[in-house]
Amino acid sequence: MSKVARIPGYQSKNPKQNRGIIGDREIRFKCSLQNVILDVLRGRPGWTEVPGQQTSGLTQTGNQSRPSDGDWDFYWCDREWLHQNYDTMFLHEHQKILHFRNHYELTRKNLMVKNLKRLRKQTEREQGKTEAQSFDFYPTTYELPSEYHIFVEEFKKNLGIIWIMKPAAKSQGKGIFLFRRLKDITDWKKGEYQPLSDQTRDVPETYVVQRYIENPLLIGGRKFDVRVYVLVCSYNPLKVWLYRGGFARFSNTRFSLDSIEDTYVHLTNVAVQKNAPDYDPEKGCKWSTQQLRKYLAAKHGVDKVQKMFKAIDNIIIKSLQSVQKIIINDKHCFEMYGYDVLLDDDLKPWLIEINASPSLTASGKEDYDLKFGLISDLLNVLDLENRLTGKEKRIGGWDLLWDDGPIVADDNMDCTPANGAAVSTPNSYLGCFNDRKKQLREIYLTAQSVKKS
Ligand code: ADP
Repeated sequence: MSKVARIPGYQSKNPKQNRGIIGDREIRFKCSLQNVILDVLRGRPGWTEVPGQQTSGLTQTGNQSRPSDGDWDFYWCDREWLHQNYDTMFLHEHQKILHFRNHYELTRKNLMVKNLKRLRKQTEREQGKTEAQSFDFYPTTYELPSEYHIFVEEFKKNLGIIWIMKPAAKSQGKGIFLFRRLKDITDWKKGEYQPLSDQTRDVPETYVVQRYIENPLLIGGRKFDVRVYVLVCSYNPLKVWLYRGGFARFSNTRFSLDSIEDTYVHLTNVAVQKNAPDYDPEKGCKWSTQQLRKYLAAKHGVDKVQKMFKAIDNIIIKSLQSVQKIIINDKHCFEMYGYDVLLDDDLKPWLIEINASPSLTASGKEDYDLKFGLISDLLNVLDLENRLTGKEKRIGGWDLLWDDGPIVADDNMDCTPANGAAVSTPNSYLGCFNDRKKQLREIYLTAQSVKKS
């Protein structure tokens, strides 16, 4: 699918009249992905593609430009490329690149939980038990094999419950299985770990074992999780934006605890669901977050749903704070995370995982439009064109959630509590109306007049 962008608010019909102002020249980009992101970059006025871009995981060769040459301003690179090149490259003042050096501290399942556990303990020590309860948003998790014995103790205390095993560094549901009996995991353990004595094999893969959420909120009898997009422009100070749009991913098969081996019932990943025998690619298995919010508000009441979305804000901030001192902060880097959040039948959100490379491949027209707007607005936030004032609290579909502290909303907009009370609300509008084009037009006009005066 390809589409020429009209990024509203500042572009003219003739891109030449509207060049980016990095050194009063065009903005040069590189991109290692071939999906919506490339359409956005290629269609953006004043931006031009640097030829000879890197492809996934390749190292530099003779006639390709060195990353240190500074021949690009913006690079949407893949993680492998960053790992191979970051330590040896020099980033110039004007360059912006996707990913922080050690993003895996948050995006590997075992490290995410380790960091959350650490901040939770510190919070309990310094601020007490009640404050530490604000970390009760991730299911009990242990790393295997290192925490196997602690896990077994916990297992014995809660006989009969369901656990889920997940490879720490894989994605798209690969290698995941559910179990109730310790025997299932000891059988697996034998298979996975015995080969240690076999010198030809590598060290066994790290897994996490996690308490399975047995009471997910169901819609139409189906389980779903919610994809939330979060943009971090800086870890020090922590600056976080939350995108209004997103989607819920449904499983294709009705939920039941009778068939715990059926991945089509229990894993909501699109990569899993699209292989289900009765999967309909036209219908897909997604709802927009806006649709979800409306549905939940009608069914459970606005206040309860507000509380649930506030709890998602808490998940975002606490998880980022848990790695704030660990991530190597670099003013050239930014990260767009895809959070996976599961709701239980009491509308409590649970953090399942955080992705550093959420899929930017579109599964249909609506998904394409969402991702196109998401990335266009991400570029608007980064503002390489230097058209904004830097004081904006909202840019298109992104709302500033945290800037070294919580951001309070200027108005209650369209997500006011049922009683309409004028309270100071956080600047958070996940699943709310996203009139991004109109909003962009307004802020670019305002910024223009501020800059003139
Ligand atoms: P992956 O990175 O392979 O996608 P996830 O941790 O996101 O792994 O898990 C895949 C899917 O499995 C999730 O989208 C969710 O539907 C389900 N799942 C994962 N962990 C749990 C859990 N603790 N309780 C209930 N469902 C879970």
